[in-house]
Amino acid sequence: MIRLALVLLLFVFIARTFWRAFDGILEGLSGRPPRTTPQRGTHMVRDPVCGTFILPGQAVTLADGSRRMYFCSTNCRDKYRARTA
Ligand SMILES: [Zn+2]
Repeated sequence: MIRLALVLLLFVFIARTFWRAFDGILEGLSGRPPRTTPQRGTHMVRDPVCGTFILPGQAVTLADGSRRMYFCSTNCRDKYRARTA
C-alpha cells in the first residue's frame, strides 16, 4: 500500500510539473505580442519638415552639403528640397 501511495504522489508531482510547463508555454504563446518597437537607446532622427521621429535605417535621406538629412517619406524630402533650393 505504501508503494501505491508513493506512485500516486509521484504521479501528482509529475502532473503538476507538466501542467506548470504547459501553462508557461501557453503564456509565452499568447501573453505578449512580438516586439516591433525599436529597442531602447536606438538613436532616432527627426524629420525637419513634419517633425516625425524615424529610425535612420528606415528614413529617406538627403545629402545637404556635408550634413545628411532624414525624412519620413519622399514627400517630405521633396518639400524640404523645394524649400531650400
Ligand atoms: Zn515627414
